[in-house]
Amino acid sequence: MSLTLTRTDLLKEQNFIDGQWRDCINGFKHEVADPATGATFASVSDSSAVDAQMAATAAQTAFDGWRALPARERARFLKRWHALIVENSEDLAKIISREQGKPLAEARGEVAYGASYVEWFSEEAVRSYGDIIPEQVGGKKLMVTKEPVGVVAAITPWNFPLAMIARKIAPALAAGCTVVAKPAEDTPLTALALVRLAEEAGIPPGVLNIVTSSREKVKEVVGAWLTDTRVRKITFTGSTAVGKHLARESADTLKRLSLELGGNAPFIVFEDAELDAAVNGLMAAKFRNGGQTCVSPNRVYVHDAVYAQFAEKLVARVEALRVGPATRDDSLIGPMINARAVDKIESHVQDALARGGKLLTGGKRVKNDVADGPNYFAPTVIIEANHDMALASEETFGPVVPLFRFSDENEVVRLANNTPYGLAAYFYSRDIARVSRVAGRLQAGIVGINEGALASEAAPFGGVKESGYGREGSRYGLDDYMQTKYHCQGGFA
Ligand code: ADP
Repeated sequence: MSLTLTRTDLLKEQNFIDGQWRDCINGFKHEVADPATGATFASVSDSSAVDAQMAATAAQTAFDGWRALPARERARFLKRWHALIVENSEDLAKIISREQGKPLAEARGEVAYGASYVEWFSEEAVRSYGDIIPEQVGGKKLMVTKEPVGVVAAITPWNFPLAMIARKIAPALAAGCTVVAKPAEDTPLTALALVRLAEEAGIPPGVLNIVTSSREKVKEVVGAWLTDTRVRKITFTGSTAVGKHLARESADTLKRLSLELGGNAPFIVFEDAELDAAVNGLMAAKFRNGGQTCVSPNRVYVHDAVYAQFAEKLVARVEALRVGPATRDDSLIGPMINARAVDKIESHVQDALARGGKLLTGGKRVKNDVADGPNYFAPTVIIEANHDMALASEETFGPVVPLFRFSDENEVVRLANNTPYGLAAYFYSRDIARVSRVAGRLQAGIVGINEGALASEAAPFGGVKESGYGREGSRYGLDDYMQTKYHCQGGFA
């Protein structure tokens, strides 16, 4: 594997089950491609149901010991893991940008962001308080405690290969759960490196297990967990279609679910907005990871009175974005993850132009001496967007900004909410009454008010409607991995 790292032992290609690195039982391999070139550069285990079951057995066996540890001790393991992630940031960032394609500076940001969840939950681990309920009738003491739910299966997407898995594993371990994890097929190496560091942090065998597979085998691997009564919870980030499938398939064993699914985020620029701030916010929110984030603004509504001015300012900024491989320091937009992703972006743009949209910049694939690969797409701005276009109702997941016009607050709020999704919503306004009115009416789990960068380990991240349920980060994040027990103790007469 050609990747120059300080610590070559971070490059793992085997599963990690019960404290041991091992090939999957059938020995099959799944190849990992570099999105910048499309060329294969690593191969990991292409696991089957047997490997998934072995991982679940290890996690179940380790559960009693892990949950019995004092919270302070579990916290110490997480702190050590956090320190190792920080210490190895540069290597982790290189692995992320190699397999996922985000520019190195962004990959470093992702390591810091993912690490912040590990640190946060090392601190939250010791605060899973219960309650004492005042005595209601004589002779009975009523108490509430929180307990870990049991074995947790974590299934993650490719767009943030480190942060998404860290923010699932950290609260699960903090709560006293044990974990079986399956990273996305496009980006398994970062997750494997992270688990290697967890091993080094001394996290006991069986507490954290990881198996990898190809897209073809994923139904089999995850299917083994879905039907396994020992797996008590599924925590998933990915598409709404797969999230619904997991909810359906885990119904028979009534697992708990945390689902962080697709979005279709509106971004509203009111006539009283500070336009430069709104452009900055849009650039930050939209072009992070080349638009491949679930909170990426998908529909940008701009008031008629400022439409032309906003479009002009935006285009100037978008044209300055340099497209290139993650390895170049001056790249701001890396390659898209794979051919399927670029095809979808291209078809959204062509559909928008066929339905009356006007292209101000971009709109096509990029191939030149710098961006020399199959998966590059130019940052794009389309004006006169309308709701017949596919990009109005589907997540484009790429560097495309469609500008819709509006002239009335009620109308734009109705349009913003007119989607089955409800993850993030953004708006810019300087009118304080409007700020509280609109923030209250937007149907989203996360609202950005005069701000484009919303993610924080200290805040609850998650959606409403078909964007899912459950929250990651913050003090609410631990609850997702805990169940409530009521103790009623008599005999005090
Ligand atoms: P994306 O379209 O961004 O790849 P997916 O929802 O398809 O999003 O994938 C997110 C995660 O879900 C990945 O780890 C993927 O392997 C996994 N996944 C995909 N299909 C299934 C399935 N049928 N059952 C379980 N997991 C799946």
